[in-house]
Amino acid sequence: MCQSRPTLRGPLVLALLLLPAVWTPARAAPQPGGEVTFTVVYDNTAANPDLQADWGFACLVNGREHNVLFDTGTKPDVFWANLEKLDLPLGDIDVVVLSHEHGDHTGGLWSFLDRYPDVTVVAPAGFSPEFFERVKAAGARDRRIEAPTALGDGLWVTGAVGGDVVEQSLVVETPKGLVVVTGCSHPGVVEITRKVRETIDQPIHLAFGGFHLLRASPEDVHDVIRKLKELGVERVGPTHCTGEDAIRLFRDGYASRFVTVGAGRVLRIE
Ligand SMILES: [Zn+2]
Ligand SMILES: [Zn+2]
Repeated sequence: MCQSRPTLRGPLVLALLLLPAVWTPARAAPQPGGEVTFTVVYDNTAANPDLQADWGFACLVNGREHNVLFDTGTKPDVFWANLEKLDLPLGDIDVVVLSHEHGDHTGGLWSFLDRYPDVTVVAPAGFSPEFFERVKAAGARDRRIEAPTALGDGLWVTGAVGGDVVEQSLVVETPKGLVVVTGCSHPGVVEITRKVRETIDQPIHLAFGGFHLLRASPEDVHDVIRKLKELGVERVGPTHCTGEDAIRLFRDGYASRFVTVGAGRVLRIE
């Protein structure tokens, strides 16, 4: 899980640096839409005792132009058991965003496409050719992301943000500001957040998901917390591969603005 794959990111990183204009239309004045609901389906911990906890991450986003499934957890049986407990209208999902090509984020995808193939699967172009072939063979549409891209009104993906692992994050406009949803943050949650700040001129209300700090020293975690605050991240919900020690430091550092995540957590932002 979360292992490194050999990748060639340098040219894309350069392209991202040189192409901020890709996101230019989204720099318009904030136009808050209605409420947005984030429902955590799969996580290392469970916020709702009816759901199973397991290493991996998946989250549903409802309330914007598209209903989005972001990542799909590890084990299909846990993924489906949790989805059934949540009792959500899965047929309304029209976009599946994959953060990165690790099994703890793509594990439930294929069984999801078996049942709901009428979706667009949005993944960084650096995913393997076999991945995209399998998406098309399942009858779904594939959308290969090269750079920061608007998926619809108030909905973006960052495109791959450098680092050794090809990984993108989801950005959602809410009435309170942007919400950044991360998979594992292999490129670094600070780098991801910085990319969002550079490309969308709106405050970041919340960043949540895996922050990948399992092996980080307390000093490193404090440094990440300080940088996220400098970047204007108002609230954080570190979970999944963040690591329990790092999560505790975030809880202390953000105090009342720390958001507990976990499978079954519903974040309604209005
Ligand atoms: Zn990973
Ligand atoms: Zn992960």
